[in-house]
Amino acid sequence: MLIRHHRSKLLSLLVTTVLICSLFGSATPVHAAGIVNQSQIYTYETMIRDMNALAERYPDLIRLSSIGESEYNRKLWRMDVGKGPAIILLNGSHHAREWMTTVLIMSMVENFASSYANNDTYNKIAVRDLLDRVTFVIIPMVNPDGVTLQQKGISAFPSSVHESLIRMNKGSRDFKRWKANGKGVDLNRQYPAGWESIRNTASSNSYMNYKGQKPLQAKEAAAMAKLAREIRPELAMSYHSSGEIIFWNYRTKSENLARDRALASQYASMTGYSLVAPSSNPSGGGFTDWFISEFGRPAMTPEIGRAVGDTHVPLSEWSRIWKQHRDTGWMLAIEGYELWLGKQDVKPGSGDFYLLSSETSYQWPSPDSKTTGSLKAGTYKLTRTKGDWLEVASGSSRVWISGRNALLGVTKAPEGLKVTLTKDTGIYTTPLQPKATALSYAGQKLMIRLVWKDWYQIQTSKGLFWVKVKQVSIVKEEETPIVEEPEVPAEEVPQEEVLPSPEPVVQDTVAA
Ligand SMILES: [Zn+2]
Repeated sequence: MLIRHHRSKLLSLLVTTVLICSLFGSATPVHAAGIVNQSQIYTYETMIRDMNALAERYPDLIRLSSIGESEYNRKLWRMDVGKGPAIILLNGSHHAREWMTTVLIMSMVENFASSYANNDTYNKIAVRDLLDRVTFVIIPMVNPDGVTLQQKGISAFPSSVHESLIRMNKGSRDFKRWKANGKGVDLNRQYPAGWESIRNTASSNSYMNYKGQKPLQAKEAAAMAKLAREIRPELAMSYHSSGEIIFWNYRTKSENLARDRALASQYASMTGYSLVAPSSNPSGGGFTDWFISEFGRPAMTPEIGRAVGDTHVPLSEWSRIWKQHRDTGWMLAIEGYELWLGKQDVKPGSGDFYLLSSETSYQWPSPDSKTTGSLKAGTYKLTRTKGDWLEVASGSSRVWISGRNALLGVTKAPEGLKVTLTKDTGIYTTPLQPKATALSYAGQKLMIRLVWKDWYQIQTSKGLFWVKVKQVSIVKEEETPIVEEPEVPAEEVPQEEVLPSPEPVVQDTVAA
């Protein structure tokens, strides 16, 4: 359904683009040309060029760094995209011949950045809002040596190692089936999760399936594990190819099963991929296996592209892969933020609260987060709480405010309910403020707006005030239809009507 919705959106966007193009002529592009070109063998060098171009075009959103070097001293590039506290880890090309995953990740990054720049929406949610809440930490090519060997052959390597590379490739000079890193270690059999019992392992360094002498022996796998331990992501995606299936379970604890299956199912329904059924005796050693057991958080290994056997996914498969994946990043962002929030001691809220004075609103429950504006005094629906922070549905988004000026658990008074006030009725600007104002409405019938604990909020000619339930009596007007009491315009209220209060006069103040 989501996908259909977005297709129709895309259609209208296309129509609009065509209209604009025909108005201005093709010489005036509506948007800057795309950076990532998917119709080419996507090399390590191409990736670096594109990363730099993306970081240059979107400097406020994309940051580049490196997490170490490959066995042949190629930098393992890291891209951070987004500004939020919830970290989502994406990685691709653990396996050399699976470099289509790098194309996918790079295209996702460009889509994130251009959508942010264009202020696009996903399911009515502002993309900017999502990317202000999450940060994608991305290693688009974990195995640059292997990718380079698979694409360019041994000429890209020093002649001193040609013989051993051919030997690891079982005598062949065709490296299209190469999966391992440059040293013949299978990087997705290098992680310390069931490493000892990995099945179908090669006995020595090989183009595929050699798990190494010990876990995290390969520099690339060690760098990935170190990164994950440092940033502790909420969830991780380790993209592989091919087969259109999703691995999502590795000895997953029963308490995490429903959560992880729900996430994988969302991804499956967007891509049309099938979930791999959990096995009671899985073969481990993969990044996803390790991530799930190390952090107890969800991770997935999607196998992108239709099954192609022992080679790379052909470029002709790209448009299908992109249609399947274009919106998955937004879903991951939404879920990643929810997972982050879940750790912040956030509790579900219910009912309404009344905000006594305007409050700055934030994207997540911290004054360090970006402000989204402010909420005016008034009644709001409470969605969640974290300590003194309250989450409120505001338009299509949710924002957080400090709860210091909020009355939790207010209810609306029944329509037309009024109270009679006496000269002893204290009129309060807020029920949190123990001192009554000097106002008096003795003998008047006033409409009740809200009920909070043992307080009524009443509508007076000077605005909304609070009275104690026990100091007023309810007016029942059962015989006659309830009519709004004509309000006395504020300027017509003579000052003499305001009776001196035994308390010091406090007006228009709000409790801190
Ligand atoms: Zn793979």
